[in-house]
Amino acid sequence: MSHDHSHDHDPLEKGTALRVRALEELLVAKGLVTSEALDTVISHYENNVGPRNGASVVAKAWVDADFKARLLADGPATLEALGFKGFQGEHMRVIENTPDVHNMVVCTLCSCYPWPLLGLPPAWFKSMSYRARAVSEPRAVLADFGVAVPADTSVRVWDSTAEVRYLVMPMRPAGTDVLNEADLAALVTRDGMIGTALV
Ligand code: FE
Repeated sequence: MSHDHSHDHDPLEKGTALRVRALEELLVAKGLVTSEALDTVISHYENNVGPRNGASVVAKAWVDADFKARLLADGPATLEALGFKGFQGEHMRVIENTPDVHNMVVCTLCSCYPWPLLGLPPAWFKSMSYRARAVSEPRAVLADFGVAVPADTSVRVWDSTAEVRYLVMPMRPAGTDVLNEADLAALVTRDGMIGTALV
């Protein structure tokens, strides 16, 4: 059967979505949560929290070498001082792309992700194929995202867990010396901070 749309046919993801819906319906039926409360939480992470937080951190690091050093050395304390902490962000670590190393992030077990910096993970981040292939053939996955990492740049894959969640600091693009911090932040994309895009 042919489709003209591009969702991935992943039986496990479909099963997970069904289980989540069943769980939500059960919790609501038992009076333990309300659908409105769940919608409020989801809306908060979709709208108030999101990749712009991470982008602001990256841009600040690009313009402030002292901040960058502290951020790389002690992510949790440095991020908490900016107010980035809490649910799904208990221990966030920032890793820096350089001409020698390109970093990318996966959660092979499930979908651990630094919510306070990036919001909710995209569907592809949770897909079985990304979680498996990011580890076994990272360069092929990057190619699928349109990212060609030079042969002499090594690719390092970081496996997130509930304990440690990673954010990639992309390299500051050449020719951006005249840009201020806000303009720089606008260049930083969500996928760039997962490591599946370049900035
Ligand atoms: Fe996970």
